[in-house]
Amino acid sequence: DPRLKAISDAISVVPNFPKPGIMFQDITTLVSDHKVFKHTVDIFVERYRDMGISVVAGVEARGFIFAPPIALAIGAKFIPLRKPGKLPGDVISEAYELEYGSDCLEMRVAGAVKQGERALVVDDLVATGGTLSAAIRLLERVGAEVVECACVIGLPEVKGRRLLDGKPLYVLVEPR
Ligand code: 5GP
Repeated sequence: DPRLKAISDAISVVPNFPKPGIMFQDITTLVSDHKVFKHTVDIFVERYRDMGISVVAGVEARGFIFAPPIALAIGAKFIPLRKPGKLPGDVISEAYELEYGSDCLEMRVAGAVKQGERALVVDDLVATGGTLSAAIRLLERVGAEVVECACVIGLPEVKGRRLLDGKPLYVLVEPR
């Protein structure tokens, strides 16, 4: 797919951000290019539109950029999975490990996802898979069936797959 090269080329790499030694994969240059942003969303939509998916869950913050256009195009609801303390009302939360320490994702329970709904989880990048795993657990706790996790960028590590607990992972490109 020739669109994948354009997507890879539109991602910029920022050395030493947000900390020394990190090669940050920056997708702001991808989404500021209308054609490439559209290619990215189109590829996901082509893959997921006929899979009976009614829930597209996006991971704060950069998953919020890609999940809503996919949800709208495939006729699914968008569910935001947020960092702690951001969502009102009853929430459930799942912690996950970071390189140093841990973090947490929350989801609203009221009226969001129903038992047996087929769900897609979207984020910009998967590294260890810890974030996506927490997202999967949240959706499964409310009875959803997680069909797949989708990311624009995937680090070429097998570790992520194990952490995803057997759920399929679909990534468009590897880091530049
Ligand atoms: P994981 O939990 O798989 O180890 O890390 C994935 C999470 O970290 C994602 O939510 C992603 O947004 C964020 N992340 C880590 N490194 C990068 C990076 O270099 N670029 C971007 N855009 N996000 C990153």
